[in-house]
Amino acid sequence: MNKSTISDELFLRAQQSIPGGVNSPVRAFRAVGGHPRFMVSAKGPFMYDEDGNRYIDLINSWGPMILGHAAEIVQEAIMQAIPNSLSFGAPTRKEVEIAELIIDMVPSIEKVRMVNSGTEATMSAIRVARGYTGRDKIIKFEGCYHGHGDSFLIAAGSGAVTLGVPDSPGVTKGVALDTLTAPYNDLEAVKTLVEANKNQVAAIILEPVVGNMGLVIPQQGFLQDLRDLCDREGIVLIFDEVMTGFRLAPGGAQELFGITPDMSTLGKIIGGGMPVGAYGGKKEIMDFVAPAGPVYQAGTLSGNPIAMSAGMAMLTYLRNHPEVYTNLEATTARMVSGMQENMQKLGLNYTINRVGSMFSIFFTQQPVVDFASAQTSDTALFGRYFNSMLQKGVYLAPSQYETLFVSTAITDDLVDQYLQANYEALQEVHN
Ligand code: PLP
Repeated sequence: MNKSTISDELFLRAQQSIPGGVNSPVRAFRAVGGHPRFMVSAKGPFMYDEDGNRYIDLINSWGPMILGHAAEIVQEAIMQAIPNSLSFGAPTRKEVEIAELIIDMVPSIEKVRMVNSGTEATMSAIRVARGYTGRDKIIKFEGCYHGHGDSFLIAAGSGAVTLGVPDSPGVTKGVALDTLTAPYNDLEAVKTLVEANKNQVAAIILEPVVGNMGLVIPQQGFLQDLRDLCDREGIVLIFDEVMTGFRLAPGGAQELFGITPDMSTLGKIIGGGMPVGAYGGKKEIMDFVAPAGPVYQAGTLSGNPIAMSAGMAMLTYLRNHPEVYTNLEATTARMVSGMQENMQKLGLNYTINRVGSMFSIFFTQQPVVDFASAQTSDTALFGRYFNSMLQKGVYLAPSQYETLFVSTAITDDLVDQYLQANYEALQEVHN
C-alpha cells in the first residue's frame, strides 16, 4: 500500500487556486476516484511522487516520452541551447532543420508549420482546409479527440467524455453546426453526411488509430475508403497524428498503413516533452498559410529554440534507430499476450486492442471498434482496476477512454512486474 498524504494535501490546496486542482482535466482522477498523485521527478521507466512512491509509468506524459523520462539525448540538446537565449521571435537554423526532418519522415508533409500544442495544430489545420476549399463544414468521428478547439468539442473523446461533457458549454451553436459527426469505422455514415452536404465539406479529420476512446483500430479498408471518398469529393483528408506520429512508425500511422492524407497534425513526441505541435501537408495547401497565403496563423513562441532543440534531438534519434519500433512492438506484444494469459487463468475475457506500443484493456467482452462499443466497458470496474494498479506501483491513464503508451525504458523485468501486478489487480477487482 503506498501512501499519498502529501499528494492529498497538495490536491486540497490546489483546488483553492486552480480549477479542479489541475491544469488539464483528466489528471484529476475524477473518472477513477481518489486524488491525483503529485509528481516530483521521473527517470527512464519510473515516476516518483511527493510521498516518495515509485511508479512504472505507462502513460509517459500522455505519449511524448517514447524513450522514457529524462532521455539524455534530449536533455543534452536542451542544455546546449539554453545559453543562446530562450526565445528570439525571429527565424533560426533549427526551424529549417526540423522542418526538413519532419518532411523527410512523414509521408504526407511537403511543408510544415510549427505551433505550441496539438490543439493549435488541429485548429490551424481545419482553418487552412476551409480557406483552401472555400467550404465551411468538417466531419469528425464520435470519440475522436482533436484538442479543445471549439469545432472539435462535439462528440469528443478523452477528458471530454470522461467528464461527461462531450458538448461543452461555451461552444456556440453556429460553430457546432459546422461540425458533422459519424461513428468511427462507419464509411456509409460518412458517405451519407457528404451526400447531404454536397460541396460543403472542407475536411474529414480523424485519428488514424484512435487513442482517445481507448485504443481503437481502423478496420481493413477504412482509411483507404476515406482517402478515395475525399479524392472524389474534393475534401481535405486530415490525419490527426498527435498521438500516433513518430510512435507507430517514424512516419506515424500513415506510414504503417500506407495511406497518405492531404494534411497531418503532430504533437507530443515532436517536442520530446516540450510544448510543441505542428501541421503540414501538400505544398499547394500549405501555401495558403500566411505569409505565403491568405489564411492567418501565428505564434509568439512558435518554433521556440529550446523546444526545437528537444524535438530535433528526439526525431533524429527515432529516424536513426529503427530498432526502437521493433523493440517497442516486441515489448508491448509481450505485455498484451501476458495479460491475455492472466485473464485466461482467472476465467476472464475482456477486450484488449493494440497497435504497436499503444494499447487499452476494455472491461467488456465485445469487440471495440467505435465509441458506442467502447462505452459498453464497465467504467466502475476500470476505476477499481486503475486504483489497484496504482497501489502496486503501476501508473496507468486514469480513464477508460485513453490509451496506454509504452516506452523503450520498459525492460523485460518490468514487463514481468507489470504482468504480476495485472494478475493480482484483476483478481482483486473480481473478489
Ligand atoms: N489530437 C489528439 C489525437 C490528441 O490525442 C491530443 C491530445 O491528447 C490533441 C490533439 C491535443 O493536443 P494538446 O493536448 O497538445 O493540445
